Amino acid sequence: MTKYCPKCGEPNPDDALYCIKCGAPFTQAAGAQQQQAQAQAQSRIFLFLAYILTLITGFIFYLIAKDDKELKKHSLQAILLGVVQIIVAVILAFIPFIGFLGGIINFLIWVYGLYVGYEAYSGREVRIPVISDFADTHV
Ligand SMILES: [Zn+2]
Repeated sequence: MTKYCPKCGEPNPDDALYCIKCGAPFTQAAGAQQQQAQAQAQSRIFLFLAYILTLITGFIFYLIAKDDKELKKHSLQAILLGVVQIIVAVILAFIPFIGFLGGIINFLIWVYGLYVGYEAYSGREVRIPVISDFADTHV
């Protein structure tokens, strides 16, 4: 694909930053906007990825998030879901006969986390009881 110089009309390669004939810069704004949109789409995917391994990915993305408050919040939620999973597993492990329920409940918590992450990725917010309130006040 070629694009045309806004100043002299010379056809240029699509990825050219400056016109090959007159040296005029191609609109920085369009490029910067595209980059920003890409970066935003990328960080939205992180919102989902943070939930993949609850505690582990939550922790990793919490460290990556830095100034990104939304990613930090979802990472913290993923961590807390992981903590809930551990608590459920430990408690149920001590109860005879229904210990297997721990696996089922933890699987459901994991699926729920993926759902929350997917909604966040799609730009919708799902409030997790208690956990979302905690996350809101700690990021
Ligand atoms: Zn030109």
